[in-house]
Amino acid sequence: MSQKKDVIIGLEVHIQLTNLKTKLFCSCSNDYRGKEANSHVCPICIGLPGSLPVINNKAIEFATKLAIALNCKINKQFWFFRKQYFYVDLAKGFQISQYNRAGGKAFADEGIVAIKLNSNKKSIIINRIHLEEDPARLVHKGSIATSPYTLVDYNRSGVCLIEIVTEPLLSSPEEAREFLKQLKSIIQYTGISNLDLEGSVRVDANISIKGHERSEVKNINSFREVERALRHEIIRQRNLLKRGKQLIQETRHWDDKRRITISLRTKEFEADYRYFPEQDLVPIELDDKFIQKVKDELPEMPVERSLRLRRDYNLSEFDAENLVLDKNIADFYEDGVNSDASFGPVEYKQYCNWLMNDISGWLNEKNKTLKDTALHPHQIVDLIRYVNEGKITTKIAKTLIDDMMDGFSISEILEKKGKKRISDDIILKNLSKEVIEEYPQIVNDCRENIKAIEALIGKIMAKTKGQADPHITRKLIIENLKEKGIIK
Ligand SMILES: [Zn+2]
Repeated sequence: MSQKKDVIIGLEVHIQLTNLKTKLFCSCSNDYRGKEANSHVCPICIGLPGSLPVINNKAIEFATKLAIALNCKINKQFWFFRKQYFYVDLAKGFQISQYNRAGGKAFADEGIVAIKLNSNKKSIIINRIHLEEDPARLVHKGSIATSPYTLVDYNRSGVCLIEIVTEPLLSSPEEAREFLKQLKSIIQYTGISNLDLEGSVRVDANISIKGHERSEVKNINSFREVERALRHEIIRQRNLLKRGKQLIQETRHWDDKRRITISLRTKEFEADYRYFPEQDLVPIELDDKFIQKVKDELPEMPVERSLRLRRDYNLSEFDAENLVLDKNIADFYEDGVNSDASFGPVEYKQYCNWLMNDISGWLNEKNKTLKDTALHPHQIVDLIRYVNEGKITTKIAKTLIDDMMDGFSISEILEKKGKKRISDDIILKNLSKEVIEEYPQIVNDCRENIKAIEALIGKIMAKTKGQADPHITRKLIIENLKEKGIIK
């Protein structure tokens, strides 16, 4: 891949505030997924003439949370604008949004998100965030190109979106991926949205090669697709330049099935939207007391948490940063390690390894999250104890994960599997060393009478509740006694 540093990328990330109960300007339910089409609508969100929008105060609170979490400067007074455009998903012919020109202000600006790629740190500046309403959802029979008609579902119309606009500071698809990873994490911690829900994220990306016109790739529908779309678009632009063609400023669409971008139209300019202030809503004013209250209620954010985990649990920077990325994983970790008072730095690290390697690997493979399983933080504590006490080997411990995910305790699983013999060399070798040390009298008897070995085997059987494989056990005890010169 080209290592040239001439790619310029800026992102506009639209996220739905899925954790709101109602829409941005009416009291219709925000929860439209899987509901009968056009069952969550009212005159306001279908934009009937004469209907009056009323601001959802919770949406303002959520936006404030995000602004603080992104280290933005909040504009304490602002008003909404009408962004005019004509399209079937917008019944009233305009979208209520915010505008940072013509006397208008964004909700907040000048934020910052720190990213790290291959141990290079970089600060991505957030130009602004603003609130706006989601348009309706278009439903096509089959594909958009071949469908004989378009259905419009207004359940989504009026759902609250926050648009997050970065400065064009990203210089590769990988950096964009890292930025979105951090952004998703921050949003999860604020509790304003569940970005795993289908359709909760839409990204527009501006991409250019230094010195050339940019294109805007619209409606990339998941964070994962962003990296792919960017990669494709950069190659497309470079190939055109190689052939001596000129790039034009245009809007393109990401086709995630064919994995290509397609030209939609030459870019419209802002004047085409005829922004003007929304007269049906009064200006919003936020006071310092409100902002401080929201700030006080915000949970610890991933950056601070990572520093604390390093301090409290002696974790490496790498481990701590990975652990905090998903709040549920980090909560699980802390619940687990704190449930056993005897745990120290060694066990903290072991717990982290089990969670981030074996458990996370299992979840990724099955495309599940912790919440889809019955796994309890204390099961990993037990697992670590069993391994550290030599009751099971790490190799055996790994085979217990499937059953642990169903909520079975380690002792239950071992009991269930108990019919199986312990035939692991390392465990049996350790046990044979143990009994040889613990029963010097029997060992002494072995010098006289080889049959005394049976007594040592019996001791190992007692320790393993009869699960030790007798043949392997006998072989290992004999080896051990020979090593010590007790028998020949
Ligand atoms: Zn409504």
